[in-house]
Amino acid sequence: MYETRDPWTGAVHRQPTHSDADIDTRLGAAAAAFPAWAALPLQARGAHLHAIAAALKAQRRELAALITAEMGKLTKEALAEIDKCAVACAFYADNAGRWLDDEPVATDAKRSYVRYEPIGCVLAIMPWNFPFWQVFRFLAPALMAGNVAVLKHAVNVPRCADAIAAVLAAAGLPAGVFGVLHIDNEQAARVIADRRVAAVTLTGSERAGRSVAATAGAHLKKCVMELGGSDPFVVLADADLDATIPVAVASRFGNAGQTCIAAKRFIVVDAIAGEFTRRFVEAAAALRTGDPRETSTGLAPMARPDLRDQLQRQVDASAAKGARVLLGGAPGDGATGYPATVLADTAPGMPAWDEELFGPVASIVRVADEDAAVQVANDTPYGLGASVWTRDPARGEALARRIAAGACFVNAIVRSDVRLPFGGTKISGFGRELAGHGIHEFMNIKSVWVD
Ligand code: NDP
Repeated sequence: MYETRDPWTGAVHRQPTHSDADIDTRLGAAAAAFPAWAALPLQARGAHLHAIAAALKAQRRELAALITAEMGKLTKEALAEIDKCAVACAFYADNAGRWLDDEPVATDAKRSYVRYEPIGCVLAIMPWNFPFWQVFRFLAPALMAGNVAVLKHAVNVPRCADAIAAVLAAAGLPAGVFGVLHIDNEQAARVIADRRVAAVTLTGSERAGRSVAATAGAHLKKCVMELGGSDPFVVLADADLDATIPVAVASRFGNAGQTCIAAKRFIVVDAIAGEFTRRFVEAAAALRTGDPRETSTGLAPMARPDLRDQLQRQVDASAAKGARVLLGGAPGDGATGYPATVLADTAPGMPAWDEELFGPVASIVRVADEDAAVQVANDTPYGLGASVWTRDPARGEALARRIAAGACFVNAIVRSDVRLPFGGTKISGFGRELAGHGIHEFMNIKSVWVD
């Protein structure tokens, strides 16, 4: 049994944990469910996914309220998260066929082709920042592929995990196809090792990634790592600031800044840096912190006190090394509130430059020109997303192609879109989710040769 707390109200929930015997039961159920699930015609699996989408839509208010209670997300953001999960289920139900059909290949054989086969049970280790979306981003393609899954969710969102299982069960998913494990990290390592688990997918921190990938490697299990980011947001001299500033603010301060693909480093060309900084600080200062259930609140509390403390240490260490605090910079309301914070003059050697700041803190870096912007954008161990802002899309595109990241957006906010692959380079991880690339990650890509 352990306790979780509502980040805003402090209301306590006591969560029972699973014993090793409980784990065994759930892995046994997954192994038992796999053959029949994998053998279902694609259309039948698609019907299940459509039923799940309908169940998510029908319960969106209750599910969103649970997200807010467990990790403090603004109600409107939580509702949007549930809706996005429903879209992903419907998308994979309707489109998986085109990625799963046999692919004929011309060779010397009478007939040869590539066939995609499910691999079994995938363990998903997921974070709290999008407690539904991170799960469905993996789960919708995995189910359509014919795999089954067990979920080890982050310690602070156990009821979201159970709610996902309840939605799936209510939508008629056969028992064992999806299971929840309330387990600690040592138990998770044993689950990865278990012969009934074929692969593991993790979304979370670099620290968790190193540990889980090492365990998966030791047991030669396939893994996908979706880790942190320190996304550059490059503003060129000709950027339209009326369009740029609202997106800059939304990208950095949405979800209280706790988003892997949030813009974190604002790299602004000298000619426009003064005006960008003034307008960005003004817009950020207007974000009201407070109760995430109030529609007037513009900036949610952070998810946990320890995460706020960690952010404060990074801000203090950056300031001690010469970063100027233009806005905020000290804890706000309640146990987890943190105001919109803007740092300027950040430089290598500061946490704001070298590390991921997983909260509502923006860093602004002035650069002389485009070449310097690319150099700074790439001067990070991370490589998740990036955006470039300019009135000249061709110029923005040329620059985006020089940035080492899993996704580069020109004049648009970096987002995950079911139709496009999602993932990182460098220490942001490896492997891809979403689109066709995501569904193939956990499949046996089999060559068949017939003479
Ligand atoms: P963690 O990486 O610690 O948690 C993510 C998931 O991994 C949780 O389910 C966690 O379980 C699990 N986990 C962590 N370590 C292990 C391990 N050794 N073996 C098995 N499972 C493990 O994230 P935090 O909650 O600590 O968030 C802090 C940092 O994580 C942020 O500052 C940010 O850098 C990063 N992050 C990135 C996200 C992204 O989307 N890329 C999302 C969330 C966080 P448990 O909770 O039980 O420890």
